[in-house]
Amino acid sequence: MTQIPPKYDHDPGDPLDILAEEASEIIKEVMKIKRFGLKGMPEWFAATGKTPRDYVVQEIGDLLYIVQILAARGFHEEYEIDEAIDRKRVRMLELYGTARVEKFEGKT
Ligand SMILES: [Mg+2]
Repeated sequence: MTQIPPKYDHDPGDPLDILAEEASEIIKEVMKIKRFGLKGMPEWFAATGKTPRDYVVQEIGDLLYIVQILAARGFHEEYEIDEAIDRKRVRMLELYGTARVEKFEGKT
């Protein structure tokens, strides 16, 4: 692998700290969509070539990368995340019912 020179002169630190940071960054970018829409302001796109949606996708990727790191370091097993997803879906079904959840999931 190509060696990339570091920007910082210290280790990345606790991945749980970074997990929390990335979660907050998702919140921040989602709020920009809520305020300015999926495409945002034209001047933003002109300056960066990215929309608020693009930034949310990147932050989700940032968070999932850290989730992978946590699994690699033994914080959790990947199947536990799958089980947690399943439990969330069951809870959604209990709260909203099948028809609404399937619509929410884009299935109908
Ligand atoms: Mg990030």
